[in-house]
Amino acid sequence: MAKAWIGLGSNLENPSQQITDAFTELDALPKTQVVRRSSLWQSKPFGPQDQPDFINAVAEIATNLTPLALLVALQNIENLHQRKRERHWGPRTLDLDLLTYEQVVLNTEKLTLPHPGIAERAFVLCPLAELDENLMLPNLGKVKQLIQQLGKQACNEVLPVEAKVTTRF
Ligand code: AMP
Repeated sequence: MAKAWIGLGSNLENPSQQITDAFTELDALPKTQVVRRSSLWQSKPFGPQDQPDFINAVAEIATNLTPLALLVALQNIENLHQRKRERHWGPRTLDLDLLTYEQVVLNTEKLTLPHPGIAERAFVLCPLAELDENLMLPNLGKVKQLIQQLGKQACNEVLPVEAKVTTRF
């Protein structure tokens, strides 16, 4: 099976529950198992501050889905959560990103691997490092090095909701 890493984020309608449900839904995907899940991490929103804090997490999965089939499966789970809202537009209840899939590098219209923006996002890197700080992201480098590049405080500003990791990075 291929090893892949999923980034989960939510800032609406009981975000912690959205993320917890999404872990279960990921595990229920065909040919796929959740191997490990990070803690839930809380962070201030990027951009406009007049919205609730985000809850983020990362899941390590083992899958026999191809990267593209996995992306479609993630989008189906996102849609499932959006339907709960009964609102047409606005912030999403659940965002699922395919962060990295084995050592695959891809630049297609639908899918970019590794996910663009990982290197600047503490809310992705800190939960990822909680699971595997030595994970190598193709073209980007090791997770722990990327965190060091963000600065020593990076993972102190992204607080673990369940206090597991505080000062390791
Ligand atoms: P967003 O809603 O901002 O997460 O962006 C979703 C769009 O990004 C979709 O149209 C996807 O096809 C595209 N995309 C490209 N690469 C990825 C990736 N690695 N993970 C998730 N979505 C991706």
